[in-house]
Formats: sequence, structure tokens, C-alpha cells
Amino acid sequence: MKKRNVDLVCDIAELMSLAEEGQDRKVLLQNVVTTVAKHMQADVCSIYIYDEENRRLSLRATQGLDASAIGNVTLGLGEGITGRAVRELRPICVGAASKSSAYKFFPGIHEEEYEAFLAVPILRGLRRIGALVVQAREVNYFTPNDVKALRAIAAQLATMIENVQLLSEVRDRAVESAAPVPKKMDRGAIIRGRSASTGTARGRACALGSNDAEACMLPDPEAPPLTVDDLEKAVEKTMTQIDELQRQTTADLADVAVLIFSAHQLILEDRQFTGRIADLIKDGTPAVKAIATVVNEYVEVFSRSKMPMIREKVLDVKDLGNRLTRNLLNKASDACDYRGQIIIAHEMLPSDILKLSAENVEGFLVSSGVTSHNAIISRSLGIPMVAISREDADRIEDGTEMLMDGEQGIVYLDPSDAVRRKYTELDEAWKALHDASDVKEQTLTKCGERVRIYANINLLSDLKPARKFKAEGVGLYRSEFPFIVRTDFPTEDEQYLIYKKLVDQMEGKTVTFRTLDIGGDKMLSYYSSVDEANPFLGMRAIRFSLQNKDIFSEQLRAFLRAGAESRTRIMFPLISSVDDFVAARSIVHECMDELEKNGVPFNRKTELGVMVELPSAVEVADELAFESDFLSIGSNDLIQYMLAVDRTNEKVSNLYLAHHPAILRAINRVVAAAQTHGKDVSICGDLSANKRMLPFLLGVGLRKFSIDIVNAPTVQRLVASTNLADAEEIANHLLDMGRISEIEAYLLERDLVGDVQA
Ligand code: PEP
Ligand code: MG
Repeated sequence: MKKRNVDLVCDIAELMSLAEEGQDRKVLLQNVVTTVAKHMQADVCSIYIYDEENRRLSLRATQGLDASAIGNVTLGLGEGITGRAVRELRPICVGAASKSSAYKFFPGIHEEEYEAFLAVPILRGLRRIGALVVQAREVNYFTPNDVKALRAIAAQLATMIENVQLLSEVRDRAVESAAPVPKKMDRGAIIRGRSASTGTARGRACALGSNDAEACMLPDPEAPPLTVDDLEKAVEKTMTQIDELQRQTTADLADVAVLIFSAHQLILEDRQFTGRIADLIKDGTPAVKAIATVVNEYVEVFSRSKMPMIREKVLDVKDLGNRLTRNLLNKASDACDYRGQIIIAHEMLPSDILKLSAENVEGFLVSSGVTSHNAIISRSLGIPMVAISREDADRIEDGTEMLMDGEQGIVYLDPSDAVRRKYTELDEAWKALHDASDVKEQTLTKCGERVRIYANINLLSDLKPARKFKAEGVGLYRSEFPFIVRTDFPTEDEQYLIYKKLVDQMEGKTVTFRTLDIGGDKMLSYYSSVDEANPFLGMRAIRFSLQNKDIFSEQLRAFLRAGAESRTRIMFPLISSVDDFVAARSIVHECMDELEKNGVPFNRKTELGVMVELPSAVEVADELAFESDFLSIGSNDLIQYMLAVDRTNEKVSNLYLAHHPAILRAINRVVAAAQTHGKDVSICGDLSANKRMLPFLLGVGLRKFSIDIVNAPTVQRLVASTNLADAEEIANHLLDMGRISEIEAYLLERDLVGDVQA
């Protein structure tokens, strides 16, 4: 009989749909191995699941081996043919296993009868999920086509296993342990935190970080008790709302919103979730309490999961619980979102921010430090965010009216009328200062010298303000967000479509793409590198790209294609040596050659630049300027790495000083190096829109500023009020000073500062 690989892939797809309906994990995996063995006419098919914590694979389902092996046979990473395939992230096909040095024989499970061995790793991006293995008695039984078919199945299985694991971990849940309830904060209290995204937010506290999912919406005690029928209606309504939310978000944020509500949909469709709520209601538990109980059970298990993908679903299930409860209580439809509420959460991910933003949240209070990417995405979405301590967060009573000052990092609980009035005035003043209609096409200094203002783009939605505020181009496109919010690496074509939109919408203006900058405080949940003790000093940015050439090349080809017939540039983050730059450049050239060979249109004239963000890059700025087409100063990281101050750690935020003499001199050196070689130089970190430091930056010769574009009116006004001769004098004075205190005194004296921090 012929092997039927197409039928096999179809049958597996059918099994996947059973997984989505909440079928038991063990039954599912067993069905998969039976189906694969049947279609491939293999004597054995087995699935191993990888445990990230102890770095071992464990046999979870088999057709053909002794059933007693399930749960008992385990392999280390690299052990046996299967362990090696998973370690090396590639399929391994062996004609005669008994002759292979890698073969590991397990006595008693009757494996010795099988010679042909094909092991395919089950991966999510580069994250190890497990392995799919087939074996046959006949030597050299498996063909290259079988390898292809098994790879396709392994790719489908990755999603299914993770989803099923997500739900089944809940079913095997452990007993809850009650945490002590912290004393709540007094009304009128003020919390001081750290600003992560500016703006004023007003709303009621809603703690998505607590285990109190029903706290924001208690039912009316007079109303008749809610029944299972009511629950079913609420589930249906919630389902419709989530589908609509996904549709709307995809329309608004096409680059980052792909399937971001899929976990909501999956949990809601899981019979175990809604069924258990229904059972509790039938047993006499009030409906709202029943939802909260089940939601809390899921939260408890998700947050303890070893898999980052599962831990990341905590806010999803809480959010789902909130929405379901509101629908059950039949609150007005607009109350189903987070309008009028400030979310308090322990940890947040960029995807949570996107989801809650789609649900009209007013602001975020985050209590476990704010990653730079979270701050950046909140700013792009215009949602204020403040980082506060865990203790303070736990002491805010749900439902408390709050006013949050995202600029200063201050939160007022039950603010007085006077505070409210003050902030209404401040908001009006802010609006007047940031009115886009004030921005002129060209930015000129008082003495008439041209300065260019570019936009930093994080999401495609930033393009609208970029045009409105008359950005002269894109000085920094942070390309990582489409990677961060997906559950797998976006393909070259998916990336191309995003980058092409960016280029098209800038209508012929220069666009500067920055290659992927992940690592540090933001890892991709589907890419697990070994745990790093110091991730900021680890596999970040260009280091990741150079190590993962396939992923890097896909991104480069997508950039190059999107730039066809346009003015585009590519720059590399965290370059530490000329060699890094040369290595990256040669991969760009390889990509260009490949595109040319295949007749694909692209921009051959793409300029290649270096982000100067490391002290080592400053030291070799001269050589970097010589080799590259342009330099761009990434001041956020430059300050972090030169001063050894974590940019996200509020405990050392007083040491994160843009006006440190070492930073000022470094910037001066980089600009001078670029000028010596006649190369373009710009600045794109937050310092570029720092009002107090702008005269210095102009004084050392910077003329190109890439900023969060809403700051364009302020920056343009300040440039217009500056004489370059004065700016140069200020810069020279500052460069002569060796002490922070001296610089602060000078800046104060010149009345350039109130608070001199960046
Ligand atoms: C910087 O470091 O200044 C920069 C612009 O890059 P990012 O903030 O994305 O790290
Ligand atoms: Mg940086």
C-alpha cells in the first residue's frame, strides 16, 4: 500500500479542530500517533514532550511501543536520535538505527525490532515543544517526502500541544493557597512611581493582578439569581464581542494584531471552562462567584506554569472573566470594555497592552518594573503608564477613583476637586503646546540653519501622527513589535507587507528600518535561548540576528523588497565593533544578490548604518563612520551601557543621567567622527526630544532628530528660538566640565532646567 501523506495532513488538521473543542490531551496525542502511524505505514509513531525546566523529553503517546513506556521513558536534550533532533532543531532520518552512534536503546519496550528511524522536532519558532518520531522494521524505510510530511505535521502539532497544555494544566490544578490580604490604602493617598508613558488618566482602579476578578462588578443584591441559561447567553454575547474586537483590532493595527484574542476565544470555547462555571451555578454558587472561582483557578495554574506561553495567558483569562461577568450582569454594552478604568497589573506584555487598548482602557499601573518595549508601545498607543511598587499596587482598593499623572509618575487616589481642576488646566496647556497645526513644514534655527525632525515609528498606527506632525521621514522604525506579539516568527511575506505599508504611507520620504532588537528585557515567548543571568549583556539585537542568519536574512529581504523604488535605509542595533557591522553588511549584500538572481525588485541603493549605543562603538566611531553610510545615536541604550544603569530599574533611575559628562563627550565624539568622514549622523533615543539638552545637541553639530513625533511642536519651537553660536558656546562649556554637579549647576544657572534628569 502507498503512503498517503496528503490524507495524513488532512486528518491531522481534523484532530486539531478536536483539540480546539477541548478534547482530553492524552486522547488527542494518542489519536495523533495512531493516525500518523496508519498513514505513513510506520510500525511505530511516538510523541515526546519537552520539559524546559529539567531539559528532558518524556514519552507521552505511542503507537507500536509498549504502552508502559508512556511517562517512564525520558531522554536528555541531545540523548539518542530523538534528543539530538530536538537539541539541534532539525529532523534526523536514520536508515538503520542499530548502526547509528546516536541510537539509544530502551530495554523492555520492544524498540530493538525497528531499524528505520525518523525524528522531527516539534518547535514553536525556535522554542522546543517536543518531538514526533516514526520507526519501521524495514531498513531505509523513510523517504525525503516523509520528512517533509512529518515536518508539516510537527508544525501543526506545536500549536495544538501548547493550547491543549494550556487548558489541561488547569484541569490537573493544584489546591489554592490563600495569600494574606494587605491593608488597603487610605482615600486621598498619593503614590509616587516612575513615568513610563506620559499623559493624564482618570478612572476607577481595576486590579487585573489580584485574584479578585469579580471585585469591579458586584451584582445587584435585589436582582433574581442568575441561571445557567443566563450564563449561556452571556457566553454567546462574549464570543460575538471578542470576534468583533479581533476584527476591529486587525483593521486598526494590522501589523501587530494578528489573532491577539485567540486565547480568549480558545478558553471560551473550552467546554471545561464554561462547563465548570455552569456546574458551580447548578450546585448553588452565585453566578458571578462561579465565574470568579473558575477564572481564579485558571489564573493560579497559568501563573505557575513552566511555559512562558502559558504564563502569558494570565491577563487574558482575567480579562475574559471580567467581560463574561459584565455580560452576565447585563451591563450596558459599552461597559464591557475598560472605559473609565485604570488597570493595575503585576506584569504586562506588549500584547496585553494592545488588547486592553482595544478595549478602551484609560491607563496602566504596573508593579513589576516596566520593560522598555512596554513603555514604548504604551506611548505609541497614547496610554499613560506608571510603574509603582508591588506593595503600593496591592494596597489600592478596586473601584477607587484615581487620577494618574503619567508625566511625573504620580497617582492620586480619590483626588480632591482642586487636584482635578489643576490637571484639567495642565491637560489644556499640554494640548495647546502639542497642537499639530502649529508645526511648519521646515524646521529652522533662529539663525536660519535647517534642522530635520523625523519620526520614531513603533506601530504602523504611528504613521498617521507622523504625517500630521509633518515628519520629514522615519528616523527609526522599531521592527520588533510584529515579532513580539505573534506566537511565531512572521514570515518574509508577512513582514514585507508591513514594511511596504510603512514606506507607502511615508509618501517618498526617507524610511530608516532598524533590524530586530529583541533580548535584554524583552524575549520572544516562542524563542527560548538558554536562560541568561544578564540578558542586557546577552543575546540581544544584532547578536541575535547574526546568530540566527535565516531569521535575519528574511527580515533583510523584506526590508530590501519594501524599499524598491523608495528612499530606505537599514540600521543595526547594538553594534559593538566594526566587525559586527561588516558581518551584518555582508549578509545584506548576500540578500541583495539572491533577490537579484531571482528577479525580485528591491532597493539596491539602501544605505546601511550603525546605531551607536555602546561604549565600544563610541571608541571605534571613527572606523564605523568610515565603513558605514550613516550613524544614529541610540541615547537610551548609550546611557544605560555607558553608565551601567538599567534603563528600566526605578531603583537606580536617579543615576540614569543624560547630562553625565561621559555621555556628553561620547555624543560629541560620535558626531565629530561622522563629520570627519562626511557621513550622515542623527540621534533617535529619548534624549533627542529632551528640551533641556537640545541646545547642547545642536551645539555639537547634530541637525537630525528622530523623536516621538507628538513632541515635534515643542522641539521645533525650541530649535527656532536657538542661535547656533549660543548653542555651540553652551556645548563647549559643558564639554569642559568633568563633574555631574558642575554640569547641573551650569544648567540651572543658565535657567535651562528645573529638573535636569533625562
Ligand atoms: C535607543 O537605545 O536609544 C533606541 C532608540 O533604541 P531602543 O529605545 O529601541 O532600545
Ligand atoms: Mg536601543
